[in-house]
Amino acid sequence: MILENGVIRTMEPSLPTAGALAIAGEWIVGGVGTHEAALAPPDRVDLGGRCVLPGLNDSHVHFPTWALAQGEVRLEGTRSLEEAVARVRDALGGVRQGGWLRGRGWRSADWAPVVEPTRHVLDEVTGSIPAILTARDSHSCWLNSAALALADGDLAVPGGVVEVDSTGEPTGVLREESCWHFRDRYAAATLEEMVEASRAGIRLANSRGVTAIHDKDGWLGALEVFQRLDEEGSLLLRVWQSLPYERVEELAAVGLRSGFGSPLLRVGYLKAFMDGTLGSQTARMLDGSGVQITSREELEEIVRAGVRAGFPVAVHAIGDLANREALDAFEATRPEWAPLGLRQRIEHAQLLTPEDVPRFASLGVAASVQFSHAPSDRDMAERFWAGKLAGAYAFCSLWESGAVVANGSDAPIEELDPWAGIVAGVLRTLDDRPAWRPEQAVTVEQALVATTVTPAWLARDERRLGKLVPGHYADLVVLDRDPLACEPGELREVQVVATMLAGRWVHNPPPWD
Ligand SMILES: [Zn+2]
Repeated sequence: MILENGVIRTMEPSLPTAGALAIAGEWIVGGVGTHEAALAPPDRVDLGGRCVLPGLNDSHVHFPTWALAQGEVRLEGTRSLEEAVARVRDALGGVRQGGWLRGRGWRSADWAPVVEPTRHVLDEVTGSIPAILTARDSHSCWLNSAALALADGDLAVPGGVVEVDSTGEPTGVLREESCWHFRDRYAAATLEEMVEASRAGIRLANSRGVTAIHDKDGWLGALEVFQRLDEEGSLLLRVWQSLPYERVEELAAVGLRSGFGSPLLRVGYLKAFMDGTLGSQTARMLDGSGVQITSREELEEIVRAGVRAGFPVAVHAIGDLANREALDAFEATRPEWAPLGLRQRIEHAQLLTPEDVPRFASLGVAASVQFSHAPSDRDMAERFWAGKLAGAYAFCSLWESGAVVANGSDAPIEELDPWAGIVAGVLRTLDDRPAWRPEQAVTVEQALVATTVTPAWLARDERRLGKLVPGHYADLVVLDRDPLACEPGELREVQVVATMLAGRWVHNPPPWD
């Protein structure tokens, strides 16, 4: 197949653009003029002046959770507790007999007045139907009394917070480990629910130009979900799968190392958490506030266990102290992991002290960030991190320091929409307001590298993914225009026209006129 009459952005600096692209089977075989001697008359696709980029790669997504969230009550954008409760009331009709009412996306800091939710306000509308409403950052959940009753008072776990009222009774809000423990124990979706939702989610992701993801739902059974989809032929994106670090000894015991899998699904890295989040005010800070999930010493042991088993580690760190301790742990263990070429990463890296910014590059630890979090968190960051913002969402500083910067959505916290993330990284605003801390904006080119080339590198796939050069998979997205030739104000209008995975159209095959 020849894609011609458009702009091919190869992402390869030695040949940044080509006028046409030749594809044979699953692979890119060459640029302009290389096809004549190759195969019998190729299919010709007229790009009509459109632009082709490598398929978009989302470096941080909770895929089954995001896919399930497409069918849940969505509380994003609610402006008051009453509005959130009203949305729950409207959704009750869709709950099947004996089932849960599940929802997500609330953020009490967005409500006027700012108020913490309680089980009592939920009970008034839900009655005896158990309800679990996950906060936008996934680090808190809001339950009603019917849900809480399932735990019979057994809510406290290490690293967790059980909010209580003045009489010592649980308010219905659980944070961190308490929230996750409850959800996993009592409110988890079944494997079948996850498979079904993910099958539909893949189509939606393909329609947004996504051909690869780094999944974070390994602890939830995502590996099995994706394996089932792979078996039935509906895994239409490449997955670099996380697994919880707690299982590392089992992986080592059977000799399963990072990189094992199929062309579409590979076991990738271990996931751990240093702290909570900005929104739940559980990020671990140098001022002493926040929640510690993993200590520096514990992370060192996790990294060492990863070395023994052949796995890199991705550790969630939001607060300035959490990031410092994660960097300290990678530094202390560097002689053990660096010679193995393990591609270690810190997820989010949201608040850094200025002295910690250059350590990502000097240690060789990637910053796996979410461009879209900067403009969507701006108000909370101004409020909770006032006076500390010099190293907050410091994407440009990280880039200029030489760090490996990868971009993800953190869906369902933000939508799984890499183009929206790219625009957020460049414009640093989501609304009519001027850019937030515009000195930390990245260029379109940098945003594209962080969404194509870098994630491929992190997944040890740099020789076959992330660029449109011969020998790479024909994973690509067709855009309606060339984003590198757009005015900044036009970037939001760029549309995904079609998506190809391994030489096969997975969204909107041509012709397009
Ligand atoms: Zn996440």
